[in-house]
Order: sequence, then C-alpha cells, then structure tokens
Amino acid sequence: MISIVTPVYNEEDNVVYFHDEVTRVMKDLAMDYEILYVNDGSTDDTEEKIRALAAADPHVRAISFARNFGHQVAITCGMDLADGDAVITMDGDMQHPPALIPRLVKKWQEGYDIVQTIRTATEDAGLVKRLTSAGYYAFINAIADSPIRPGGSDFRLMDRKAILTFRRFREHSRFIRGIVGNLGYRQTTVNFVAPPRHAGKSKFSMKKMLHLAMDGILTNSTVPLRLVFYMGILSAVGSFFLILYVLGCWAMDATVPGWATMTILLSFFGSLQLLGLGIAGEYISRIFRETQARPLYWIAADTADDEKSPWRKARGR
Ligand code: UDP
Ligand code: MG
Repeated sequence: MISIVTPVYNEEDNVVYFHDEVTRVMKDLAMDYEILYVNDGSTDDTEEKIRALAAADPHVRAISFARNFGHQVAITCGMDLADGDAVITMDGDMQHPPALIPRLVKKWQEGYDIVQTIRTATEDAGLVKRLTSAGYYAFINAIADSPIRPGGSDFRLMDRKAILTFRRFREHSRFIRGIVGNLGYRQTTVNFVAPPRHAGKSKFSMKKMLHLAMDGILTNSTVPLRLVFYMGILSAVGSFFLILYVLGCWAMDATVPGWATMTILLSFFGSLQLLGLGIAGEYISRIFRETQARPLYWIAADTADDEKSPWRKARGR
C-alpha cells in the first residue's frame, strides 16, 4: 500500500483538482493507496473541501491541525500517521507533479528506500530566488554534517523502514531535507521541473523562508559557533600587535594618534561581539525550544476517528 501525504494550507482552489489528478495516477498504477491531507490551520474552505473528499472517497483521510504549525510539521504529522509500505510526501498546489509518482514507485520497487526528487528548475521562480537558492546550498553544503542536494524538495518517497526511523527524530527546529539526508539507507534521485502553482499564491513569506533557511544551517551544523571562535582568535592576535605598537610609541615618547583608530576598533569589536552573541543566541533559543519538549503539533479533527468514515471501513479499523 502507498500513502500519499499532502499538507494543505489555504488551498481551497487546489485540493479538488489535486485530488482528481492524484486519483487518476494511482488508479493507473493499480496499487492500493491512501491519501492523507493534513490541513495546517487553513482559514479558508480547505477543511470543508478535504472533509467532503474523505466522505466520498475511502482512500482519503483528512486531518486538521488546531492551528498553523508550518509546512515541515504538517508533513511530519502525515508521515507519523501514514500506514503505507511506502510514503510519498508532496505539496498540494501541483508544483510537485502527480505524473511523477509512477517513477518514484518504480525506483522503490527496484529496491531504493528513499527516492528524493530534485527540482532542476522552477518555471515561475525569478532570478533572485534562483541565485539566493544556489548561494544557500553552496554555503550549507560547505558546513553541514550531511550533504543536502541543491534543488532538493520535500517531494519524495520513503520506504516504511526509513519512515519508522524518521519518526524517531522529534526535533522542533525541523529541516526535513537535512534529516532525510542524514538517514542513510539506499537513496536515489529523480529530476523534475516544477511547474507554476495551479492556483493561489505561495504560502511561504520571506520570514518563513528565512526561518527555514536558518533552521537548515543551525540544525545541521555547529560550524557557525566555531567560526566565531576563530574570528575571536584572529582579532586577539591582531590586538596583540596593536598593543605592541602602542607600547612602542609610548616608550619612544611619541603621541599615539587615536580618534579614528579608536572609533574603528570600537565599532569593529562591538559588532564582532554582537555577532558572536547573536549566533550563540540562535543556538540557545533552539535549545530552549527543545527542552520545553512541547508536542510538535496537535490535531483538532481526524476523519479516521469518525466511526462512519469510509477510510476506516476500507482499512478494516
Ligand atoms: N503549507 C502548509 N503550511 C504552511 C505553508 C504551506 O501546509 O504554513 C503547504 C501548502 O499548502 C503547500 C505546500 O505546503 O501544499 C507548499 O507551500 P507553497 O506552495 O506555498 O510553497 P512554495 O512552493 O512556494 O515553496
Ligand atoms: Mg508551491
């Protein structure tokens, strides 16, 4: 059985279209399947739409969060609840083409445990997004514990055993690509070109993007901390020579010229200290979140709890 996990956040104009497309592909594949929609606290009609799908189609399980928890957490929830021998995670806006599913499944049947898709291009992405993305991946790969492929997306297939391992990773600052890259197992990739969204706008604000980018770096590496340490050593060596110079001037009774040097040094070391503090602070705030050990998400409604749910009958629960 194959599980499809799809997070949806204000996708009222996409879910039904997406559902029809995936259903068509899965019927062609002639394999048993379920589709889990995780409604990430939508404020539009997404919830009603997925509940209607679940009422009409025994393959569908509709889960709704109590509020918005974010894309990475919504995917995690679907991976926690999926019953399939393989689990495919994909976005609900058609940017992850359902037509690719048979190729992922084929790789799985060939014996791969994780089939990662690689976006070779996004049709509607601007130059800025492309350049920042390329720079980001170059940086993260220079410092990360495990490699992260440029263009990696959260469209992937995972075998049940990889899913069971993934479920034991409960960190709050999640960058699923980093975790999956770290899992090992037999991994392979499939390339694709992401088409523009079917309807609506991207739900990723600049703020959410930056946050995910930070998590990607900070949860995969402690190199930034070491960099600050090295910078500290460098500036200590620099100041040592500066002190020698000042002492030399004093011994030779020369006046030490100073205002410009003072200002430069003060602001330089001031910013260096704040930078170090900021980087340490980012790690500490993540430590704080993890020690709170709050649940990753909580669910307000799940059609699987409904005795009359067609999904439940089909799965013999
Ligand atoms: N999404 C979500 N929670 C969020 C933001 C997005 O569940 O807080 C879902 C969204 O409905 C979509 C997928 O995650 O199915 C990818 O989001 P989007 O298309 O906005 O991201 P982009 O493709 O622009 O990176
Ligand atoms: Mg999208």
